[in-house]
Amino acid sequence: MTSKSCTPYYYRPFTLDPLGCDAVTIGHNFRHYLSYHLGRFQGCAQNYIYEALAYTVRDRLMVDWRHTWNTQLQPGTRRAHYMSLEFLIGRSLGNHLLNMGIRTATDQAMLDYSQKLEDVLEQEPDAGLGNGGLGRLAACFMDSCATLRLPVIGYGLRYEYGMFRQYIENGYQKEATDHWLQNGNPWEIERIEYTQHVQFGGYTEHYHDQQGRARARWVGTDDILAIPFDMPVSGYRNRTVNTLRLWKAAATDEFNLDQFNAGSYTEAVQAKNQAEHISMVLYPNDSSENGKELRLRQQYFLASASIKDAMRIWVRHGEFEYHHFAAENVFQMNDTHPTIAVAELMRILLDDKGVEWEDAWAITSQCMAYTNHTLLPEALEKWPVSLFERLLPRLLEIIYEINARFLRTVSMKWPGDTDRQRRMSIIEEGPVRYVRMAWLAIVGSFSVNGVAALHSQLLRDGLFHDFYQLWPEKFNNKTNGVTPRRWIAYANPGMTALISEHIGDEWIADLGQIERLKQLVSFDNKAFHAHWRAVKLANKQRLAALVKSECHVEFDPAALFDVQVKRIHEYKRQLLNVLHVVYLYLRIKHGNLDNWVNRCVLIGGKAAPGYYMAKSIIKLINNVADVVNNDPDVNGRLKVAFIPNYRVSAMEVIAPATDLSEQISTAGKEASGTGNMKFMMNGAVTIGTYDGANIEIMDAVGTENFFLFGLHAEQVETLRHDYRPWEYIERDQALHDVIDLLRCGHFNQSEPGIFDSILDSMLSASDPWMTVADFRSYVDAQHAVALAWQDTEKWTQMSIMNTACSGFFSTDRTMQEYNREIWKLVQPPVEMTPGVLSPDVE
Ligand SMILES: *Cc1c(COP(=O)(O)O)cnc(C)c1O
Repeated sequence: MTSKSCTPYYYRPFTLDPLGCDAVTIGHNFRHYLSYHLGRFQGCAQNYIYEALAYTVRDRLMVDWRHTWNTQLQPGTRRAHYMSLEFLIGRSLGNHLLNMGIRTATDQAMLDYSQKLEDVLEQEPDAGLGNGGLGRLAACFMDSCATLRLPVIGYGLRYEYGMFRQYIENGYQKEATDHWLQNGNPWEIERIEYTQHVQFGGYTEHYHDQQGRARARWVGTDDILAIPFDMPVSGYRNRTVNTLRLWKAAATDEFNLDQFNAGSYTEAVQAKNQAEHISMVLYPNDSSENGKELRLRQQYFLASASIKDAMRIWVRHGEFEYHHFAAENVFQMNDTHPTIAVAELMRILLDDKGVEWEDAWAITSQCMAYTNHTLLPEALEKWPVSLFERLLPRLLEIIYEINARFLRTVSMKWPGDTDRQRRMSIIEEGPVRYVRMAWLAIVGSFSVNGVAALHSQLLRDGLFHDFYQLWPEKFNNKTNGVTPRRWIAYANPGMTALISEHIGDEWIADLGQIERLKQLVSFDNKAFHAHWRAVKLANKQRLAALVKSECHVEFDPAALFDVQVKRIHEYKRQLLNVLHVVYLYLRIKHGNLDNWVNRCVLIGGKAAPGYYMAKSIIKLINNVADVVNNDPDVNGRLKVAFIPNYRVSAMEVIAPATDLSEQISTAGKEASGTGNMKFMMNGAVTIGTYDGANIEIMDAVGTENFFLFGLHAEQVETLRHDYRPWEYIERDQALHDVIDLLRCGHFNQSEPGIFDSILDSMLSASDPWMTVADFRSYVDAQHAVALAWQDTEKWTQMSIMNTACSGFFSTDRTMQEYNREIWKLVQPPVEMTPGVLSPDVE
């Protein structure tokens, strides 16, 4: 059934006048929205200016969005569904202007209205629908898929409240809610017509159908509505606009009816609130699970609504043979969060579509793919069986059956190896029984990938070793990336113009070409080098202004900008950075100033609200900053600032202004990192451990352009058996002095003892992060940094080389690898249909 044959006569395509993209037309359209749609006029609050401009720009995406959607929905088109509990997209307006190539015209249109576009862009709240790297990765992936014209749909949750807003009071982190939707979201389109029902609770009925086959149905459930909201994802200058579909939870009307009729009006309304809780708030935990029931509800809500939607689309477009489903659909699960999708697809095929188990399993295990993001044991999700039983009883039955069949496979391969069966079981036995979500994901997927070479290797050798021995062909690596559109072209217009002046501008959609900058790296290109430094200086002035207004600390743009921004976590070792800062402070106090380099140290990041240690680290950073910045002996040689509320729009200012990128995790703990890539692209030099994608960054840029230090992953694991941190302190006078200064309360004179737990953890033989073991190596590497910085020409070369060698770290490359090796999608043919709105395929 094609869309044409069922198009009714009154439903012919109609042509729209193409919307002008010149400054005059944009300005005209903008004024129309401001006055007629929003009912506001000159002199109104600036957020209305933003809103009117957002609608103006969205209009110009609409025809291409519709066209892309209809193209992707053609029968026979294979589609990928990127399922993620997080999409950390940040702001949209500036990104769309860049992708559409209408920034200059819009600039002018705003000037004609006496507005600076930059100020208008600042009005947009960040869509903070993610915690950190994992969520930002999903956003960069969506950008690259649109630019590569791949038929990929993002599925996520439309949280009413995103990541909390962090502010600092007396050095402590405080959390405030982030009601990002308060003023509406001009980018989203609600599509009530594609609402799905998601079941919870109830029980299973087993029965025999007319053919006498044993069947099951899930009944007596509380149903919740999943309403999709679509956001456009524009490709870079290619007339492609993909879709990010975010689900909002709402109460069904049936749900309340009995209570309502019984006169329990308020209870009925309460039930509505209960239903809406599911998509109310993003869990602010990064790299750790929290085991809350509502979180499992969110996970199932996303998985169920998304799979049902994918199936609805597929069934409507001519395919009814379920055995073909896997040929046309692939689901990429971003970490274990959505992996209940494995059991949900089985349930739909078995119970709703009447497919036999073997066939349903063949379909499911051919269209699911799983990405692992961490090796940290505390991040591995497992749910109590009892919770599953109450919330998702039918899914638990299916998981048991998957597990029983899987364990038969294991026992066939390793007869009698009961220990291995126990290790590999999807159900963890013990006083409390758990469902291991990563195991469910591996068993149910045809592809399992890590996110950097080292990480994928550690998965095969360690955590997933049993599974690797069983199914080596499932395991693969996809090194992460970041989108060069947002992280260079948008965030760093000065550098973008300079690069394009020399090598043209094709690198923006083909980052491999940035390698051509290597031609300009030699000292002979004096003018280019000077220009490169001037761009960096201007970016540093912009960051210094932000630091001044946010932290009340004066950064001198001539100093070395030494930056560590990322979630606060012990494995990321912000503490090691603090030890170095205190070491520098003591050098000043002792007058030990040989080869001194003035530094501005910037640290930022959020701590999970329940993570005591991470919150103490924030307090320590702030207290150290306070002492250092106010000690007259320091006299501008060292500045320290903690930037509150680190988020995507802050990183857009920070990365372009950074000289030294701190990537100092305990080796073997940072799966990949992507902040490291944003910095590299913007010409920062990295000081880092042999961990995650740092290794690949160093391979790309050369060891001479990277400051490597610290233990390697195997050394960390070996040392763990006999770790004696106090011996490092006894052997190293500088470390001794640093620890002494912290211990004596120099940085917490009015709050004695508050840093004891931090010190105790660092000095404990069981410190998993081995902070003091890497101190000497880190300090030595920082000395090398200072020496390199003093040679301005040399530093400039290192900076240019980092940008020039960053081509591999574009998500365009990452997505091409996913597509070549996992998704196997085909790009639709390019056909320009300007101004034509074809009838909806749906
Ligand atoms: C890139 C990014 C991250 C990830 O940073 P890492 O250093 O890789 O942990 C986290 N948060 C935001 C806002 C980012 O832009």
